[in-house]
Amino acid sequence: MFHNHDSILVQEYASLGAPYLVEVPATPLRTEASLLHLNATLAQEIGLDAQHLASAEGINTLSGNTPFPGYQSRASVYCGHQFGQFVPQLGDGRALLIAEIRKGKQYRQLQLKGAGPTPYSRHADGRAVLRSSIREYLASEAMQALGIPTTRALSLTASADPVFRETTETAAVVCRVSESFMRFGHVEFFCYTNQLDALRNLLTWHIEQHHPEIDLGDSETSFHTGLLQWLATVIERTASTVARWQAVGFCHGVMNTDNMSSLGLTIDYGPYGFIDGFDIDHICNHSDHQGRYSYRNQPRIAHWNLYALAQALSPLIPDSKETLQNLLDGFADAFHAEHSALFAAKLGLPATKGDPIDILIENTLKFMHEHKLDFTRFFRSMSALDPHAGAADNFALWQSSPFFPLALGDEQQVNNAHAWLAQWLAMANSTQASTADWRATLDQTNPAFVLRNHLLQHAIEQAQKGEFSEVNRLFAALSDPYDSTQLPSEYIAQPPEWAQSLVLSCSS
Ligand code: AMP
Ligand code: MG
Repeated sequence: MFHNHDSILVQEYASLGAPYLVEVPATPLRTEASLLHLNATLAQEIGLDAQHLASAEGINTLSGNTPFPGYQSRASVYCGHQFGQFVPQLGDGRALLIAEIRKGKQYRQLQLKGAGPTPYSRHADGRAVLRSSIREYLASEAMQALGIPTTRALSLTASADPVFRETTETAAVVCRVSESFMRFGHVEFFCYTNQLDALRNLLTWHIEQHHPEIDLGDSETSFHTGLLQWLATVIERTASTVARWQAVGFCHGVMNTDNMSSLGLTIDYGPYGFIDGFDIDHICNHSDHQGRYSYRNQPRIAHWNLYALAQALSPLIPDSKETLQNLLDGFADAFHAEHSALFAAKLGLPATKGDPIDILIENTLKFMHEHKLDFTRFFRSMSALDPHAGAADNFALWQSSPFFPLALGDEQQVNNAHAWLAQWLAMANSTQASTADWRATLDQTNPAFVLRNHLLQHAIEQAQKGEFSEVNRLFAALSDPYDSTQLPSEYIAQPPEWAQSLVLSCSS
């Protein structure tokens, strides 16, 4: 048994069956799979036995060689808007639901990514390469530690099986974990294939399963009200998650509606990136020529995606055009409120609403953009400041920070820094907290370390040579990105020059 005595294997989603899910066995790897990493803390949390998962039997299941005992794996169908274009048929092309685990009220699904083709693979191989699997594995847990809603990663297994991308790479399988992997695209699929009863049943199941606070009632009216309440929740959660991305300088890279979680989780880590030198128009996906999914555009695109979701819901709610529009209009306020609060906290300022704080946030980002200041180091360096000291003292204190982000040889930059600091101090000097408390709070707000691309790249290159210690080291570091004393010095340092020229392939 993979699960502990306090948890059980269930078939709650699986029992929905057709037309949502098809049974598909995983395709065994041809060469022996090895366990590169197991997230024992997560295993424990969801009620799985880490030791058993790490055994030969466990590795077989986590790599798709044998089924999870008592469960037949399944793939789900969805569609979506990719780069703004409607694509009528997508689905779990290389993801398989392999178990559902219930531990009291806690319910989790386990999904293998890269365990072979499904009816939704569209001629692709159903595999994932080691490179992209390491990226997904580490990013999921990095986001979790940063307090950003995300799917989780339980295990990373790999084998020598060749996988053909731009070059020949090798196969890996991530076992990921979530309350639900439902995407906006699931709703779109059943709407646009005109299976409205199926859509209604799916949403009823999803809402009852994941939103006990929403009562769908017994009447048409109460069902409509419940659906609208659900949409409002999705809007709120999406706004909040994207605001959180902005606050750590995270770009998702492929915000297609099929990569948008109904629970507002960050899902499907592809060519994502944490920004080093801040460029508000940063594009992390090499194939995104227009910058549709740039840092600046993420909130706008989230809103667009929510619009697509609302449109797919609308046939279930008669005469709802105006109500849906009003709900969608609420996105801007929800995003703005969260964004202001998060950035005010990052600047060590009280979360007072209103123009002055928004102007300061905007000016801060402008200043960072103008000089391409390192996003993470800029905010982290702020805890060297003292809201109770004067401007000149503050500049000296700032310079003493190991995270000091400025190039002192650049006169224009230094002048702008003084101007920015004066603006900041005018707001910060009303701080009530002692300097020590204020600094401690700030150090728990602004991470010292994010999963930068060049660090990942290094770990991936090592892993491709069979050396996994860097993956382990990154994994260990990302569980507490706030305690700089525990972090390797190169993880918190200014990224090297070559980091700027890293180009991410979107193949995975
Ligand atoms: P993505 O851009 O990774 O979100 O994937 C878009 C769609 O393509 C999804 O339906 C995936 O399941 C599918 N897909 C991507 N890569 C593969 C692959 N190697 N094999 C099968 N399906 C894939
Ligand atoms: Mg996807």
